[in-house]
Amino acid sequence: MGLEEVEARAAIARLIPVEVEEVAEVLARAGFRAWAVGGGVRDAILAGCLGRDVVPGDWDLATDALPLQVKPLFRRVIPTGIAHGTVTVLHKGSSFEVTTLRGEEGHSDGRRPDSVFFVSEIEKDLARRDFTVNAIAYDLKDKTIADPFGGIQDLEQGIIRAVGDPAARYQEDGLRPLRAARFSAQLEMSLEEGTRAAIRPSLERFSRVSVERVQAEWFKALRSRCPSRCFRILLEDGLLQVTCPALFAAPPREPIEAIWARLDGAAPNPVRRLAHLLYDGLSLPEKELPDTLDRLRLSNHDRNEVVGLVAAMSLPEELSAEAVRKWLSARGRALAPSALAFAQERGAPESFLTLATEELKSGVPLAVVELAISGKDLIDAQVVEKGPRVRALLFSLLSHTFAHPEDNDPNRLLALARELARAER
Ligand code: ATP
Ligand code: MG
Repeated sequence: MGLEEVEARAAIARLIPVEVEEVAEVLARAGFRAWAVGGGVRDAILAGCLGRDVVPGDWDLATDALPLQVKPLFRRVIPTGIAHGTVTVLHKGSSFEVTTLRGEEGHSDGRRPDSVFFVSEIEKDLARRDFTVNAIAYDLKDKTIADPFGGIQDLEQGIIRAVGDPAARYQEDGLRPLRAARFSAQLEMSLEEGTRAAIRPSLERFSRVSVERVQAEWFKALRSRCPSRCFRILLEDGLLQVTCPALFAAPPREPIEAIWARLDGAAPNPVRRLAHLLYDGLSLPEKELPDTLDRLRLSNHDRNEVVGLVAAMSLPEELSAEAVRKWLSARGRALAPSALAFAQERGAPESFLTLATEELKSGVPLAVVELAISGKDLIDAQVVEKGPRVRALLFSLLSHTFAHPEDNDPNRLLALARELARAER
């Protein structure tokens, strides 16, 4: 027998935050109904009934009150998307999106509905949602569940299924095929056959989705326990090629299964996992990386990290403390721990990893600012005049300390700097 609705109700009642119930009570006192919908309900059933290791994150509410009726009921309300019926209610340190029951019409840009219209039945609101598992509502007053598309059964069977005709739903919003793949990874579920088969015919629509939305889905998938579930679908059904044409354009250097295993086995750090994917999927990582990163519109910070990690894979040829210090210095202290994790996940020799970890902790200088002497000290001591030679001299000192870290002492460095400056003249 399938999962009973009573069990689902009990699980949601147990896991729903009291703040959500309080928001619903305020709405109820003003004569409005309220439902918990979307990811919170889905995750509560997964965790509470199906023993899954998920923590319900954000709880969204649906209500029959209009945004302008919701606003005055709470002290702090952000008008997130009044036109689309959404306000954010801040209550006791938490924030909840409260959205008026609505339907959608026309999606001529392939992402946002041309118009939304408010409806009075929760079932109609659920019908605009993407997947059955995301289209379950919990009535916060009656404590009943509305599940018109069989979302509970799909949760139990581990199936992501579009609400209605998948091809039509993908045409409305071109992001949905990617969301399907992302949920498959995040929830560790399979795509229903028709929901998957409709992906390839929707690629043109998908190609018009903004890269920011795509990137957000990639990152959610990359944080999940099993990102390969998502990227396997993206690769096999063409979504990956739309976003990053260079990725897997040529046969990879390794069997694809090994690449997926490495991706899943890596720590759930999205940027580092992305670096793995790009390193494995680009035939000339260092050459093709800039264009691929441009396409993904990564933040500067994330971009630098990916570039730094990929570069980190040129490991020192010989295993000496000096070579390892140079390698660490080239990464920089901030990135070095991540570079070491990356190298480890890519199977770098244990001897290198051990030595590099020791050196990183040892406090040997890895940058000129970590030297026991500064440019100003050199100028004050009249070793060198202000100008570009100061920096060059500091780098020579740093280079010296890679081989002789015991010389990182103000007096010794000063003496050494004098010698170097003299030799240069
Ligand atoms: P998570 O927050 O874990 O990523 P979620 O299901 O909460 O998952 P959100 O993107 O926060 O996902 O959206 C909340 C709900 O809004 C979804 O559960 C779904 O019902 C609906 N929804 C979100 N995006 C879409 C979309 N592109 N098309 C249709 N319905 C959507
Ligand atoms: Mg959510």
